[in-house]
Amino acid sequence: MFDNKQNGFDYDVVVVGGGPAGSTAATLLAQHGRKVLLLERDKHPRFHIGESMLPFSEPVLKRLGIDWSQGNQFKSGAVFIDETVGQRMYFPLSVYLKAYQVERGPFDQLLFQNAAALGVDTHEEENVLEVSCLPDGVDIVTDKAGYRSRYLIDATGRSALMGKKSKSIERIENLGKFAVYTHFEKIPPSEEAEELFRSGSIYVPVVDIGWIWIIPLSGRRLSVGLVVQKDRPKDCEMEDLLRRYLKASPILTRLLDGAEQFAPVRVEADFSYTNQSRYGLRYACCGDAAGFLDPVFSSGVFLAFTSAARVADQVHLGLQEGREADPLLHAGDDEDYQLGFNTMRLFVERFYQSGIVHNLFFEADRDPELKGQIARLLSGDLWADNNALQQSLLAGRRMAN
Ligand SMILES: Cc1cc2nc3c(=O)[nH]c(=O)nc-3n(C[C@H](O)[C@H](O)[C@H](O)COP(=O)(O)OP(=O)(O)OC[C@H]3O[C@@H](n4cnc5c(N)ncnc54)[C@H](O)[C@@H]3O)c2cc1C
Repeated sequence: MFDNKQNGFDYDVVVVGGGPAGSTAATLLAQHGRKVLLLERDKHPRFHIGESMLPFSEPVLKRLGIDWSQGNQFKSGAVFIDETVGQRMYFPLSVYLKAYQVERGPFDQLLFQNAAALGVDTHEEENVLEVSCLPDGVDIVTDKAGYRSRYLIDATGRSALMGKKSKSIERIENLGKFAVYTHFEKIPPSEEAEELFRSGSIYVPVVDIGWIWIIPLSGRRLSVGLVVQKDRPKDCEMEDLLRRYLKASPILTRLLDGAEQFAPVRVEADFSYTNQSRYGLRYACCGDAAGFLDPVFSSGVFLAFTSAARVADQVHLGLQEGREADPLLHAGDDEDYQLGFNTMRLFVERFYQSGIVHNLFFEADRDPELKGQIARLLSGDLWADNNALQQSLLAGRRMAN
């Protein structure tokens, strides 16, 4: 049995970032019997955008012992809408596995507290300032202390600690540029509102400069945001831009008539990227730190869960076999990671190419097989080998290379 103290280590693994990816990786490693420290610079519950979840997250949540049906809005599907021609296309998602729309503050706190309950040392309000991944161990310096561990997991989200350090972040062009969003409560009764809260679906109206999300949350609240892909009209402040598009949408006008805004309007840059050094000497990245995609298909937290689970299982094996200093420890996992990330990436890229919503999504109304294939991708069913749409997306990429 490897003795950490005798070998000068405080922990087997230090995980930086206490969002969904970090809490997942830390918890699974603790379940494997590893001594883990999870460091989060904020204090939970902290605000985070990204409320719409995918059903294929459920297997990882089961491993964590989390029941996400408690207190969250059930999500039956996704509805893509073109209000200019009055078309709507509903994709049922919660068929075998179930999904929920979650408020990220309490949800991320639950995951973080669950990690602590299962044996992870958790520190909040501790900011990691510097890490050195060396052949004989990892040194971590925070604003409060220093630690030495056998391995480092970077789950810092879009702060991308290791990606920025190694200058390995590569932008993906032509997807969303920024998002401007807010939250409403006390949504008054109306036919539209009853249908929305009954189905719990995410609504995605497409607009000339991008798309809008309408996410129903428990307690008759709504998360509403505009993702802008094209250049913003020069004469318009961000907040005015959001209001202009909310007013122009008949659905939102009906839903928000008499509702109260209860959060400030927030703006976030929304550039998609890959991290070309997702792993290396004694470290691996997961979640947004490994790569970030425009949120049109709500894939972020799902990819955070699944990439964190893969990284955690592989790190545990590496530590068990004494291979943790192998920079290629995660190379065997590349294909699976890329299959998931690239499928979503290609799907998102197709979304922004003109006509996909009409040519593919609305076409699916007449083609049940195509509708099923789209619904599987939108659910996060990315690692099966029998989805013709996924195969054609990936084949198109191979031809382009
Ligand atoms: C506009 C927008 C809308 C989105 N909508 C959705 C959606 O509907 N559904 C969805 O699934 N995803 C959505 N996403 C994406 C989703 O928010 C992310 O993919 C998800 O939060 C990734 O989880 P994570 O754990 O990797 O990172 P995060 O959740 O960002 O967690 C990273 C954590 O690391 C901490 N941290 C960073 N640096 C340090 C440091 N140096 N020291 C200590 N701690 C540190 C941060 O404080 C943070 O808590 C959206 C994203 C955007 C921008």
